[in-house]
Amino acid sequence: MANSTSGEIVGPFTDIVQQASTFIWNIASTNIPNDLHWDRLLITLFLAICLFMYYRGHGSKSAKGEVRQVGIVEYLIPNDVYTHVSARVDVWLWVLERILRPIWVVALMATVGPVTEQNVIAVLQWQFGETPAIESSFAWMLFFALVSLLLYDFVFYVIHYSMHKIPALWAIHKVHHSAEVLTPLTRYREHFLAGPIWAAGSAFSFAVATGIFAYLFDGGITQATILGAGFFSFILGLTGSFRHYHVQLRYPRWLEKWIQSPAMHHTHHSYLKKHWDTNLAAVTSIYDRMFGTLYIPDKDEYTPWGIGPDTQGEYRSFMQNTTGPFRDWYKMLAKGHSPQAGAALAPEDSVQEFS
Ligand SMILES: [Zn+2]
Ligand SMILES: [Zn+2]
Repeated sequence: MANSTSGEIVGPFTDIVQQASTFIWNIASTNIPNDLHWDRLLITLFLAICLFMYYRGHGSKSAKGEVRQVGIVEYLIPNDVYTHVSARVDVWLWVLERILRPIWVVALMATVGPVTEQNVIAVLQWQFGETPAIESSFAWMLFFALVSLLLYDFVFYVIHYSMHKIPALWAIHKVHHSAEVLTPLTRYREHFLAGPIWAAGSAFSFAVATGIFAYLFDGGITQATILGAGFFSFILGLTGSFRHYHVQLRYPRWLEKWIQSPAMHHTHHSYLKKHWDTNLAAVTSIYDRMFGTLYIPDKDEYTPWGIGPDTQGEYRSFMQNTTGPFRDWYKMLAKGHSPQAGAALAPEDSVQEFS
């Protein structure tokens, strides 16, 4: 357990890393919103059956992103979506990600997390003196969960925004957007270089929250950390799985101004210009509203998925997606060295064509 008898507060991240590597592994795999759990898939399926009954077969989208009326089997597992080449490539990209993940997850969780946490604690001690050593209560734990969520969502927003706006990063994130159909596996459809970026972001945001609360509670918030992690896995798992499912799940408009509905991620994956670079946060709509990137779709809004007819052909196979960023960077470098270097930076010429 963490304690401050030596005058040094050990935050949960550091505590955990010091204590057991299996424990980090568990925290890492539940905290990083990149994990495929059968229970979440069952929740997705259960929700989809409820939606089927409620809307009487309406609301499922075809591979073209159009809402249609179908029978239950087509509603839940449409043939055109699951036999699409894009769905197959999702599987291979997921396999590659799973193979590479242990290398960087452990490395990042064991470095970015504790370093951030210790620095946050040190800054707070320097600014505000000794820990107030607040007694932990249920209300505090909920507050901790909320603060962690808002921090996580903010960091996610910043990374995602940068990935959309900076051409060199868009080259990596484009792989997620080259999905032409949405399946629960599309959630893990990322270039292998994107994984460490997202993981570092998660570790950083969680460590800021655990650092602040370790200071406030004199390190004794391991319970709160675990409750917070559980709360997250639940929220992220639930919305995460449905975000990449072809059935539109919308919330009332007033609620969509606060929380991202899964349908709002359908528009994020659309190649129509009006949908580009919108709905960039993971959980709430707060930051999209603050920075003007919120897009609340209409009922049954048409959302053709992918990066659009002009470049989709270059991002269809597993190999094309895996080599994509390297090809783009090479093009950028080649253009940068050409006599028309200035022209290469013109927005209409940049690689960030779709988002
Ligand atoms: Zn997505
Ligand atoms: Zn995106």
